[in-house]
Amino acid sequence: MRPPALAYSGSCMTRQQRFDVHPVPTSPWVISTRELGRSPGVMCRYRRQIPAPADFKLEIIGVAEGRPIQLRLRFESAIEGVFVSGSADVEVVGECARCLEPLSYPLTVSFGELFAYPDSVTDATTEPDEVSRVVDEMVDVEDLVRDAVLLALPLAPLCRDDCRGLCPDCGERWVDLDLGHSHETLDARWAALEGWLTSTDDADIV
Ligand SMILES: [Zn+2]
Ligand SMILES: [Zn+2]
Repeated sequence: MRPPALAYSGSCMTRQQRFDVHPVPTSPWVISTRELGRSPGVMCRYRRQIPAPADFKLEIIGVAEGRPIQLRLRFESAIEGVFVSGSADVEVVGECARCLEPLSYPLTVSFGELFAYPDSVTDATTEPDEVSRVVDEMVDVEDLVRDAVLLALPLAPLCRDDCRGLCPDCGERWVDLDLGHSHETLDARWAALEGWLTSTDDADIV
């Protein structure tokens, strides 16, 4: 049986429609831009450690809720808004898509995005779901960081690139089984298929 190929997709990462929500100043994800002012070219750096929310994960892999996310942020004021960039260190946990063994590894993702000022040209010419906004002089980076983490997660995580998965008959992991492990349950149909495979090999088709 051919194992599922590693695949990445951004199709399920639609940014939540949160533009009509005012940032909660007490949220660890919300940072005031007041210190930055409105003069283009000013830059501030921030470091934060934030416990992972429950939704920083895909079906079988992600950041365990409550585990620390180490954030390094850089806010740069521009004419149109604040350019927020940085990186996040997380610990990813999940299970192998082939053999179901637990797996974990450290992951660092980087991100960068403009948050437009409410009175900017960008604000007037784009929809809030296209370009994020500075709201109440604050920036909420949670969606930005979540998108970066989710996009970096494999849909079919593997414990190792050449994981052989499970025996389809007994469900044991191939690495735990003896070489030549098989089940003597070949019925007539399988036997016929085997015969066909052998004759195909013999036919030397290139
Ligand atoms: Zn595996
Ligand atoms: Zn088996």
